[in-house]
Amino acid sequence: MQSIDRISVLEKVLALAGKSGEEHEVAKHIINTCIGWGVSPSQIHVDDSPSRIQSACTTGNLFISFPGARPGPEILISSHMDTVPLCIGAKPVLDGGRIVPAGATALGGDNRTGVAAMLCLIHLIQFKKIPHPPLVFLFTIREESGLQGSRYLDQARIKGCLFGINIDGGSCIEGTKAAVGANRFTVEIHGKASHAGVHPEKGISAIMVAALAMENIFRGGWFGKVHQGGKTGSSNIGILSDSEGLAIGQATNVVTDFVRIKGECRSMDPDFMNEITEAHQLAFEGSSKKILDHQGNTARVHFQKQCEYRPFILPQNCPVISLFEKSVLALGKTPLLKDGRGGLDANWFFEHGVPSLTIGAGQNQIHSLGEWVDLVQFQGACDLLEVMVSKATT
Ligand SMILES: [Zn+2]
Repeated sequence: MQSIDRISVLEKVLALAGKSGEEHEVAKHIINTCIGWGVSPSQIHVDDSPSRIQSACTTGNLFISFPGARPGPEILISSHMDTVPLCIGAKPVLDGGRIVPAGATALGGDNRTGVAAMLCLIHLIQFKKIPHPPLVFLFTIREESGLQGSRYLDQARIKGCLFGINIDGGSCIEGTKAAVGANRFTVEIHGKASHAGVHPEKGISAIMVAALAMENIFRGGWFGKVHQGGKTGSSNIGILSDSEGLAIGQATNVVTDFVRIKGECRSMDPDFMNEITEAHQLAFEGSSKKILDHQGNTARVHFQKQCEYRPFILPQNCPVISLFEKSVLALGKTPLLKDGRGGLDANWFFEHGVPSLTIGAGQNQIHSLGEWVDLVQFQGACDLLEVMVSKATT
């Protein structure tokens, strides 16, 4: 068997550029590598998801299928190809048991560790001929920009999958069996401009309407970590801008007539996620009535909300959970199951009918300049995938 240097596979994918929407180089590298290892072009497919995604995309989701040693349902194995913009220009360097970025960038271990672990598994399939069930490898686009690749993927490609193993995390012995859902909202407050020194009474300050609403949200316990009536969730207000995304207001002597606010609400409970969002809507609508101009006019508030992804919880008897647990035990380690507080491609796989467990492959301090990859965890994930796939054959 031709053996493989897993670390060099990882270093090569870490060095590739590929922020959300620009994953073509990563896809090209995966395709060329697999073809070089003898994978037939007929096993490879790029889907038409960009036609359903509103933002620009340089490639679709990449699927590579392997017929198995047994007939029957397929297993999905997935990772996302994109990284956050902070990773652009990353130069990975080995530093003991870690890979770190050489300069002031993040690293892209989120989620090139998953991509590399999948490539190493494909190498095992091609050269070690390990037994495996029918497998669908899926490399998604635009995970970091709202899980759009997994949301808009060609569902026909995964409809035969019994379950999925999604690789996107730190520890290889931790399986994420549930994750929160998220609503996004945009509020537009239309006030009225006036000279702030000469005729302030004729103006309606959109900034003050926003401030009163945010005070109400904060005092009501709907901001940050939210605990209400035994339910939990979170909320954040992330962006305040004018209609062009620039600074709010034109001058200190003008009553500000417009503010746009963007935020999000998350929870494991879809009803509570909506309740948090409604609390925000009520606060903005209510605060608009508190500020009147000299004729009794008030601001207009336009509140738009959208479910970005729904929460999911794998049923306890989902076969991927027992497969994960016995595979980790077979490697002499203790499996852990946890709930995730961020959205995952697995949220959408669940919606598409493929319950998926997410495991880690060594990413650490993601989306930050301090990002690094833990090579013990990466190697552990490669070992675990081999065992999981072998055990799923029978
Ligand atoms: Zn990720």
